[in-house]
Amino acid sequence: MDLITAIAASLSATLKRPVRIETSQSVSGGSINSALSLETTAGRFFIKINKAHLADMFAAEADGLEALKSTDAMKVPRVIALGTHAGFSWLAMEFMDLGGPAHPARFGEALARLHLQRGDTFGWQRNNTIGSTPQCNTPHADWVEFWRHCRLGPQLEFAHRDGAPRALIAAGERLYEALPAFFTDYRPEPSLLHGDLWSGNWGFERTGEPVLFDPAVYYGDRETDIAMTGLFGSPGREFYAAYDAAWPLDPGYQVRTTLYNLYHILNHHHLFGGGYATQAQRMLAVLLAELEA
Ligand code: ADP
Repeated sequence: MDLITAIAASLSATLKRPVRIETSQSVSGGSINSALSLETTAGRFFIKINKAHLADMFAAEADGLEALKSTDAMKVPRVIALGTHAGFSWLAMEFMDLGGPAHPARFGEALARLHLQRGDTFGWQRNNTIGSTPQCNTPHADWVEFWRHCRLGPQLEFAHRDGAPRALIAAGERLYEALPAFFTDYRPEPSLLHGDLWSGNWGFERTGEPVLFDPAVYYGDRETDIAMTGLFGSPGREFYAAYDAAWPLDPGYQVRTTLYNLYHILNHHHLFGGGYATQAQRMLAVLLAELEA
């Protein structure tokens, strides 16, 4: 049985009706997986495919999508099924008709609604991935300790193993030690986060309804999601105004933006190398200068 036939059989079992494939088209735009749009007798599905050993990455993605969807804060594709077959793993979800007109203000309001969902601790019930990098989500009562042990620390470890410049590692270690200084007057709460909110991971349906996909969910400081919206592209001024009107940000956010986005730049260094080391060093210099200001 080929992969598409196996996926159709699994969809039939889950949906309890015969599912026949009418057309299958590849979808571009993903950075980690290949993707297909499957037109079937039971409707259209979006299928992500990767190697079988990455099945747990899709299990974590399904878990995150379900967590986001269960809040009803924003539209999120419904997970239909997932599995492995013949050396591949796959995740099938509702197909979203993206490419609609942008409504940044609706997106801002909806994201604030999502962030109002609170956890008891920082972290998540399972580990997941950021890009394809493993990301630890061990629950912590203290945000600084969480950021140290589950975010900055592991990326500094990767940078060290990847042979990043010594100056980068040294600056990273100084930041690691000084982390509490960024939180003297600010106590973040554990908000439900998308966790990987760059511009490739949200869209708008034809109706203008904002949609979230491809999450790396955990409970953490909502500023981390807001920071990442501006890292590779931006949803625009109306988005930030609407978010801030719904739930104002703390003034110290501007400084912590660099702190939080450093994690993603270090992760890009780990995944892609190249000029990201220079960018990380610039960000570290800004952050360390902030401590002396
Ligand atoms: P990757 O994990 O490889 O980065 P994504 O989940 O970001 O892949 O999906 C790749 C692209 O496919 C997205 O940028 C988006 O345009 C589109 N996409 C994602 N989810 C859906 C969906 N449920 N329905 C339709 N298109 C989707």
